[in-house]
Amino acid sequence: MNPSKRIRILGQHFLSKPEILDKMVECAELSKSDVVLEVGAGRGELTRRLAERAGLVIAVEIDPRLLGDLRKIGEAYPNVKVVAGDILRVKPRGFNKVVSNPPYGISLRLMEWLIDSRPELMVLTLQREFASKLMAEPGSRRYLYISALSSLSYDSRIIELIPRRFFNPPPKVDSALVVMKLSEDAPQLKSSWKMILKTLFTRRRQKLRRVLRDLLGEVKAEGELDLLDESILSRRIYELKPSDLLKVARFLEPRLQGIS
Ligand code: SAH
Repeated sequence: MNPSKRIRILGQHFLSKPEILDKMVECAELSKSDVVLEVGAGRGELTRRLAERAGLVIAVEIDPRLLGDLRKIGEAYPNVKVVAGDILRVKPRGFNKVVSNPPYGISLRLMEWLIDSRPELMVLTLQREFASKLMAEPGSRRYLYISALSSLSYDSRIIELIPRRFFNPPPKVDSALVVMKLSEDAPQLKSSWKMILKTLFTRRRQKLRRVLRDLLGEVKAEGELDLLDESILSRRIYELKPSDLLKVARFLEPRLQGIS
């Protein structure tokens, strides 16, 4: 693979500004009892800093050419475990925090998996636009499936915007430093509920009543829809707050069984 293709496909934009790396570590409030996952550890600039503070760092990197540098860091810091491979395949377990500058190309799938893994705290540099989706409010243009999914479990905040020139080479998109805290009342989301939420968002501009009638069939929907509040039924999918969407998913799940 030629270098520019590698940059594009693997999202290799290394964070070169020490102040930002230090800030990320600071936001993670690390102690020796923490097990930190780092996604796309690259040359290990962040890895080293995490290793100084955390009990264990699981550093995942896909590019074999970068593994030499990382392994050296692993030798210097016995609490760094280098894992070679695609994060979406290796899917490590047992971490309670995530601190990373991950490749932007896999943001959505990565975030779905991370939310599933329920770490208590995540400190991430993300594409600014993606970051704003994570905290989008119901009714807004950016309120999508991932907004509802992340808001059900995480309180997300943009700490600061990161100028493109802080990366080497600079990316073509803007970035933001995001902190996500697991909510105390974060529900355990069944995968069938998530499927339903995803399906609802494929029709995000339609009113819930219409969508439910289509999904359940007019006959089955008749009568049963009264179980949901009118204030919910008359809203469009993208106007429903995450907790209401979850109510709808719980309502739909048993009723969709047997319907294909
Ligand atoms: N954290 C480093 C590197 C960020 S660039 C720093 O801040 O400097 C993103 C890194 O993710 C690159 O090293 C790239 O090779 C790696 N990467 C890309 N896709 C990946 C994947 N699917 N799984 C694991 N690492 C990946």
